[in-house]
Amino acid sequence: MKYSYHNHTPLCQHAFGTPEEYVREAISAGLLFFGFSCHAPHHFSDGYVSPIRMREEQLPEYADTVLSLRHKYRDYINIGLGLEYELYRPTFNEDIAYYRSAGIEYLLLGQHFTDDETLPTSFNSYHETDSAEGLSAYTDTVIEAMSTGLISYVAHPDCFFFSGDERLYLAEADRLILASKKYGVPLEVNAFGHSRGRHYPRVGFWERAAALGADCVIGIDAHTPERVYIEKEIASTRAFLDTLGITPLDRIPLRKI
Ligand SMILES: [Zn+2]
Ligand SMILES: [Zn+2]
Repeated sequence: MKYSYHNHTPLCQHAFGTPEEYVREAISAGLLFFGFSCHAPHHFSDGYVSPIRMREEQLPEYADTVLSLRHKYRDYINIGLGLEYELYRPTFNEDIAYYRSAGIEYLLLGQHFTDDETLPTSFNSYHETDSAEGLSAYTDTVIEAMSTGLISYVAHPDCFFFSGDERLYLAEADRLILASKKYGVPLEVNAFGHSRGRHYPRVGFWERAAALGADCVIGIDAHTPERVYIEKEIASTRAFLDTLGITPLDRIPLRKI
């Protein structure tokens, strides 16, 4: 693995270490490309502060930090300036315009909520539920985000923690996977979830991805410098994909936003 697109900084309030420590780890692991894609800010008009993402006013600081590291280490590695975005409908246009103005180069989609996270009606993808309505809202939101043409890949597309009818789950997985093919957006197998024994990567989902021939990519999702490149974790994620007959892409084209 030489290209790593999904990595965080402490600005999201649940990652640790300095961005420079991440870069130094990436260089010593021999990566050719290291992309920062920390949790994107949204414009919450009522002043709500999300506990899992950087604040709006921190975006310029984030961009400056990443670009100065790019410059400092330019002889050793390529550094990307991305965001882990999630579709947030109330301020979609405003958010994207703001990312563009800050020089953000690419967006991964990591859909943690089915809708506006401030609303009680929104489902949190990480909270176990048997709600068919929640699952289909998640799938709809991910498909809508892919249809914008702004998403380079979908991080942990199987993160919606559905414990209801498996046939229903697989039908929704098919809908998401077929849309990823239609829009040409690869799907990420999340090495972090794999190493932590989280509810994703979900075997049923990736069996369908294999059957339908989706493009897949391994995402590290480092939230600490130590996790930037753990050989054993990557090998075990690869072995998981091997058993399903999936060969992940090493490198993906980044879509301009
Ligand atoms: Zn995170
Ligand atoms: Zn992430």
